[in-house]
Amino acid sequence: MIYLDHNATTAPAPEVIAAMLAVLSNGWANSSSQHAAGQESKRTLAAARATVARVLGCKPVEVIFTSGATEANHLAVRGLLAAASPERKRVLFSSVEHAGHLRLARALAAAGVAVDWLPVRPDGTLDLTAAQALIGPNVALVSLMAANNETGVLMPVAEVAALTHAAGAVLHVDATQFIGKLPFNFASFGADAVSLSAHKFQGPKGVGALLLRQGVSLTPQTLGSQERGRRGGTENLPGIVGMAAALDLLGNLGAQAARIAGLRDALESGLKNALPDTHVWCQNVPRLPGTTYVRFGQLSVDVVLQRLDRLGVAASSGAACSSGGSEPSHVLTAMGVPADEALAAVRFSLGSTTTADEIAYLLQELPPLLAPLLCEEELLTAP
Ligand code: PMP
Repeated sequence: MIYLDHNATTAPAPEVIAAMLAVLSNGWANSSSQHAAGQESKRTLAAARATVARVLGCKPVEVIFTSGATEANHLAVRGLLAAASPERKRVLFSSVEHAGHLRLARALAAAGVAVDWLPVRPDGTLDLTAAQALIGPNVALVSLMAANNETGVLMPVAEVAALTHAAGAVLHVDATQFIGKLPFNFASFGADAVSLSAHKFQGPKGVGALLLRQGVSLTPQTLGSQERGRRGGTENLPGIVGMAAALDLLGNLGAQAARIAGLRDALESGLKNALPDTHVWCQNVPRLPGTTYVRFGQLSVDVVLQRLDRLGVAASSGAACSSGGSEPSHVLTAMGVPADEALAAVRFSLGSTTTADEIAYLLQELPPLLAPLLCEEELLTAP
């Protein structure tokens, strides 16, 4: 399989699997237990926390382990809102947040919380002028993703952090697609709380973290003594150790990003040359290195994914969580893209394991399969 769906998930690295197996077979005692085996697990947990903190540029006490980014996002938004002073009750979300996060926003609105939306421009970037007008003194919290999972567009975290802090509010950033793809340092990032998920950077599924700046108040949402009372429940030690191992493997992300962006650019220009009906969204704005979001004329994404499947290539129709549905992507809709174009959206997401040979194979095999379909489409839609 040629795997070009790294934004959906990634394969666990062999070192990650080895580290997890060691804990599953020999280090399975409860880290809250008094006995020697429990104390050994406690030390394993502390060592994993120290690794996570070192790689991500935060203090160990600022790491709250969770079951992934969805839980971290919920803990941040509900927990920061509950801890905000009573006169601050508005919450702002960008209109292109991950589908799960939008559900949370809608649930809060339905429960009577004042929710407002930060819009994006037609090129997929955040509308900072609109953000400036919306971030006022009655805002408790702004929640913004660092990088969009569909378009790959990078959001202006530092600028929004400055606006948010000037208004006396706190900033939560969902960095699920950012961490592992671009250099990250919590101390200089600007956000008060940051969500991440291990399975996006060759770690296991079902584990992630919320990084919470020391001194920022958060009301726990799952009660229990673990994680200093901020997230109850026996820790997923194999998962946590796997996540730490995956972070430890990240290495020089700047160099890796340059290599992947080169492959992504070759893919985009190759597709455009071979199939002039190719349209690439968000091509000229700051993006994740490996993400490309395209349509081939208005060919239905299902048809394209079928042909890709025949070639043994795994790609996606925008957000994996909504694939199978016939709703146009909310991200493209927020950018003002018409539904018929949005329903043709195909996302290729390249990653650390992607090779030049894989891109060359795709460029050689896909255009001959799509060209006749595009001709047919032109004939059908000709006036
Ligand atoms: N936020 C973003 C931006 C994502 O891409 C994802 C995963 N697709 C999530 C949150 C959810 O992460 P998890 O699977 O760890 O719950």
